[in-house]
Amino acid sequence: MDNCIFCKIINGEIPKDFELESENLVAFADINPSADIHILIVPKEHIGGIKDLNRSHDSLLSEIYEAVNKLVTENNLENDSYRVVVNGGKAQHVPHLHFHLLGGQWKKMV
Ligand code: 5GP
Ligand code: ZN
Repeated sequence: MDNCIFCKIINGEIPKDFELESENLVAFADINPSADIHILIVPKEHIGGIKDLNRSHDSLLSEIYEAVNKLVTENNLENDSYRVVVNGGKAQHVPHLHFHLLGGQWKKMV
């Protein structure tokens, strides 16, 4: 979608190293981390937010949580603290669905 910062990252218009990439999603470091480890897991499809999800996204959501688990393992977070956060409404600032994986020490609200 035009003017969507995450679409631009996904299509390479804005260069960014990916922690993980598959057919349907990417994961990359948050530019302004709220925790020691702060990774965004982002579907390639432009989905606005939670409100736009329905049953047709079931397998995408499973894939997102598989990606979360992979990133948890890769970042040695199993025995540390981690959280997954999805903001919506006024708490959401980038209008392209994304899951925050926050690991280690939490510094501020996402
Ligand atoms: P939200 O408030 O929408 O849940 O979270 C948006 C997140 O995207 C914020 O944590 C913010 O730091 C991050 N962010 C915004 N713009 C960029 C960007 O251009 N690159 C990266 N890597 N993260 C971004
Ligand atoms: Zn987008």
